[in-house]
Amino acid sequence: MKKHNFNAGPSILPREVIEETAKAVLDFQGEGLSILEISHRAKYFQPVVDEAVALFKELLNIPEGYSVIFLGGGASTQFCMVPFNLFEKKAAYLNTGVWAKKAMKEAKGFGEVVEVASSADANYTFIPKGWTIPTDADYFHITTNNTIYGTEILEDFDSPIPMVADMSSDIFSRPIDVSKYAIIYGGAQKNLAPAGVTFVIIRNDVLGKVSRYIPTMLNYQTHIDNGSMFNTPPVLPIYTALLNLRYLKAHGGVAAMEKKNIEKANLLYNAIDNSKMFVGTAQKESRSRMNICFVMKDEYKQYEEEFLKFATSKGMVGIKGHRSVGGFRASCYNALPIESVQALIDCMKEFEASKL
Ligand SMILES: *Cc1c(COP(=O)(O)O)cnc(C)c1O
Repeated sequence: MKKHNFNAGPSILPREVIEETAKAVLDFQGEGLSILEISHRAKYFQPVVDEAVALFKELLNIPEGYSVIFLGGGASTQFCMVPFNLFEKKAAYLNTGVWAKKAMKEAKGFGEVVEVASSADANYTFIPKGWTIPTDADYFHITTNNTIYGTEILEDFDSPIPMVADMSSDIFSRPIDVSKYAIIYGGAQKNLAPAGVTFVIIRNDVLGKVSRYIPTMLNYQTHIDNGSMFNTPPVLPIYTALLNLRYLKAHGGVAAMEKKNIEKANLLYNAIDNSKMFVGTAQKESRSRMNICFVMKDEYKQYEEEFLKFATSKGMVGIKGHRSVGGFRASCYNALPIESVQALIDCMKEFEASKL
């Protein structure tokens, strides 16, 4: 049976990217060696990193003066790496969910943290509005897509102080104005590559301004100066990221991805809004295109488990909602075909018709 992969992360990648990765695991570029057993210093690997960086810059239209680096440690390590490198006296955070809160927790270890706004009281069902960024903070941190709650910031704010964004789950899903950001980071396993590599895009001039000692591995400058080769980088995930970036370029880049992502999200949200049984959890103006969260209305709650079984029997994978929201979450990353969204909608309609 065909599987429809709605996993939240690690998540779906284009089939041809996976097949190309498999080939490289057996024989990397006809060298008679697996990519798993070559040195990252070998002549074959440097071009992989160089091309991946170049494609980041090209696809995201990254201006001059920025560096792109690949690290280990996941987005979670960035929660402390950002303050290590930027925090002098005070930082400001927009609290839009568990990931934002975890980032704030790490920053608090460095000094005063201002929570600019929060939707915690409403279980993070919306992106707060009407807040102002304090001009005396060292940086302002946002989480553009809240993977767990299905809310998303779809504009690139103006910020009077350096803006840092966790884009783990929506990078490459739409064109962004990188010039509005000082740092953009993310774990790659949502929309770019398999788990194991973290990307960081940094405006070079924000570094070098803090007075503390920064541990070598946590200092962005170390990795910029060494082209992501200071220590052994996650070789295989970087290679798969490169293949996916090539795929993105060949398929029209981020503008084409955005068009497709809007189409998929509209299709599913319309089905949810027109359903008698299901209801979306995020407020409409904050809805994410990447993670679409919905539950059964109170009067039908008892059917949630049965629907999950039914959908699973029809090939749906990974649609169980995060435990802090409940219900269902359909993650619709770039690689998810519109046919999978349609298959899920058919499933919802068939189930609803059988009960009402
Ligand atoms: C998944 C996720 C993280 C955590 O990423 P790791 O790579 O597992 O550390 C952080 N932020 C957001 C928005 C996420 O979706």
